[in-house]
Amino acid sequence: MKDKLSRRDILHASAGAAAMASGFAAEAAQSAPDVNKNSAPSKLRITDMRAVTIAANYDYPIIRIDTNQGVYGYGEVRDAGVKGIALILKAHLVGENPLNMERLLRKIRLFAGQGRMGGGYSAVDMALHDIAGKVYGVPAWRLLGSKQRDKIRIYCDTTGHEDPKIYAERMKKRQQMGFTFFKMDLYTRLVKNRPGAVNHRGVATEKGLGYLCEYIEAVRDAIGWDVPLAADHFGPLNLNDSIRYARAFEPYDLAWAEDILQVGHLGPGGDAPRNWRAYQEIKQATTTPLAIGEGLFGLEEGFKDFLDNHAVDIIHPDPETSGALIETKRIADYADLQGIPTAVHFAGSPVGCMASVHMAATIRNFVAMENHAVDMPWWSDLVTGLPKPIIQNGYIQVPDTPGLGVELNEEVVKEHLRYPGYFEPTPEFNEVIVSGFRRVGPWPHYDENGNWCNCVTY
Ligand SMILES: [Mg+2]
Repeated sequence: MKDKLSRRDILHASAGAAAMASGFAAEAAQSAPDVNKNSAPSKLRITDMRAVTIAANYDYPIIRIDTNQGVYGYGEVRDAGVKGIALILKAHLVGENPLNMERLLRKIRLFAGQGRMGGGYSAVDMALHDIAGKVYGVPAWRLLGSKQRDKIRIYCDTTGHEDPKIYAERMKKRQQMGFTFFKMDLYTRLVKNRPGAVNHRGVATEKGLGYLCEYIEAVRDAIGWDVPLAADHFGPLNLNDSIRYARAFEPYDLAWAEDILQVGHLGPGGDAPRNWRAYQEIKQATTTPLAIGEGLFGLEEGFKDFLDNHAVDIIHPDPETSGALIETKRIADYADLQGIPTAVHFAGSPVGCMASVHMAATIRNFVAMENHAVDMPWWSDLVTGLPKPIIQNGYIQVPDTPGLGVELNEEVVKEHLRYPGYFEPTPEFNEVIVSGFRRVGPWPHYDENGNWCNCVTY
């Protein structure tokens, strides 16, 4: 869409926008002296969506939504997802005013699914917040509500080792880096070479569970029994296995056991469980707290049954799947009503990370947020506009700059492209490719005089 606004129109619209955004004005003046004076919110239109995929520990598909006024927004599809899940939404968004965030998100919700299929919707939500924040001159968190905290507590994954002592030393190093919240992968395969430890289904025997607990005990002895320690990735556990494992973990006071049930339940499986009844059975059988949610999209579609039925102790949405800022805040607020805390799963780039930080800043029941890239030397360099490194002493500062508060560092991104090209044109997505209902004319019908019109003949 061409920008046909005259300079007078733009100035006039800017004045109107300033009045509309009066609630934000004082804060904008204080926190964002470089507020975009060129934007004319009522005449803002989406003109394009493009993408680039960064090859990192996982692929990071980044989208950019462009507008007719030069303002653009970044978003990120879930790590290890693909850009196409966002780009198929382009034709549904071009020509729309990006500030109508909730209406646009409702329009594309039909195309969001569980797991990586929630990534397109989530990327668009992030990009719309980036645009709106820049237009109104406020940080994305301000568009959601008020800030509950100035910095976000981060936890990170740690490479495991078959030797419990080495595993514990690695976790201790995380503590020395400043982290105050910990999580360990407790793969059953860690003990598969010990005689009698693993059964024919790849699940630990009672003997094997004892060996697995040696890892938790070693880590606990290294980092302390008084700090939060969660555990993940236990193996192909069914419901009864899950109960056995969770009970074995009870002496170690885990912060949570994550996605413990992996087989024998409904839904996409693995990290996107839908069978809240099975989790309710496990929960009633153990005092080890259970967390789920990194593969779930949406409150109604993914989390509501678990929360209504108190089937888990903690929810653990990934904002790149769960619906990014607006939807994840909705989910967290609903959990808060039930007294259930919200931890945040995250394994993507600094773009999605900061979008998640803005969201996490606004929720009351926040616990900690994950980062999967603390050992990647160039992760922080993918963006500019933030204090570096992005994670300092186990925390990320919540930005007060407009939008998400990050700009891509083109030079560094180009060093790590999965595919050639940098935000290349996407004409193949100009037309609607997927749609629940789309009436294209001319269609045969009776007109007001009762005449049959537009009958297609061959
Ligand atoms: Mg996990």
